[in-house]
Amino acid sequence: MWREYVRQVKPYTPGEQPRDNNVIKLNTNENPYPPSPRVRDVIKNFDYSLLRKYPDPAVNELRQAIAEYHNVDKNNVFVGVGSDDVIAMCYMTFFNSNKPVLFPDITYSFYDVWAEEFDVLYVTKPLNDDFRINPDDYNTINGGIIIPNPNAPTGIAESRETFIDIIENNKDSIVIIDEAYVDFGAESMLPLIERFDNLIVVRTFSKSRSLAGSRIGYAIASKEIIKALHNVKYSYNSYTMDSLTIKIGIEAIRDEEYFRENINKVISTRKWTYDKLLELDYSVFFSSSNFLFVKPKGISAGELFERLKDNNIYVRYFDKPRINEYLRISIGTDEEMKSLIDVITSIK
Ligand code: PMP
Repeated sequence: MWREYVRQVKPYTPGEQPRDNNVIKLNTNENPYPPSPRVRDVIKNFDYSLLRKYPDPAVNELRQAIAEYHNVDKNNVFVGVGSDDVIAMCYMTFFNSNKPVLFPDITYSFYDVWAEEFDVLYVTKPLNDDFRINPDDYNTINGGIIIPNPNAPTGIAESRETFIDIIENNKDSIVIIDEAYVDFGAESMLPLIERFDNLIVVRTFSKSRSLAGSRIGYAIASKEIIKALHNVKYSYNSYTMDSLTIKIGIEAIRDEEYFRENINKVISTRKWTYDKLLELDYSVFFSSSNFLFVKPKGISAGELFERLKDNNIYVRYFDKPRINEYLRISIGTDEEMKSLIDVITSIK
């Protein structure tokens, strides 16, 4: 009988995680460089006996470090187990009207999965033919809005004005801007947190701080919003962040110099790869993120995806309407991107 009552969900499909070390892994937008050396020191010096105790459920120290970094109050900061956890908490906390939540048709493919998971109605708003957002599309009754900037999997960033337009037209809704990739070249909405009490900016340590394995994400918003998020979190799982991860996060966000260096390397490799792909006559969108959205020439995206895999290079292919002629390629090291270009050239 119990099978009748099993919750039926179609899970989010993450990119493959091959365990073979010879693979060039350009399929999940990880950072190719290690985290700050200060993170290594935290791990080396971590007092393991601390694990005996529960961590601080309010994660005060890490929230304080993030608050100092962004020049806001600790009570404007919520942290979670990666931004996936933070966004899921936002859905649970704020998307409870019976009006549909809005997001673009081409975007992070977890947004509709959470909507199904939490029984939230949603409507997608088609990007235009250049994969850009039209703010007027969001000028309609809704129960909340979520948009990444830069968008995924396109890597295209929109201006701050575009989002101001959307927020101003939606004073009765929560508007979430998912800034997972913002550090690689987009304009942040953080300076507008004080002006708009319905805006939530979500960030992650997974990409620009090379900490996808530690699972640290955060939201910055008005104190009222953060309090509401905490109320839901404490009613669900109070101890989400472990003691070691909390310390890792604090040191990572304090190492500004390493952070800048890391980002600049990724941006310069992105530029090199972009130029090489254009030379091969591929169409490539200008990216403000740590990946490129690429339409191959002379070979279908699906075929190229397979051929690259045969050569131990993993990229991401979405067999979905409108984007099944594209590949999303994360930016790796210079050597990795050179291997990618060499393989593409050889199979052209
Ligand atoms: N938002 C977007 C747009 C993403 O691409 C990702 C990475 N898959 C996330 C959020 C979640 O990242 P994390 O949970 O590692 O912070």
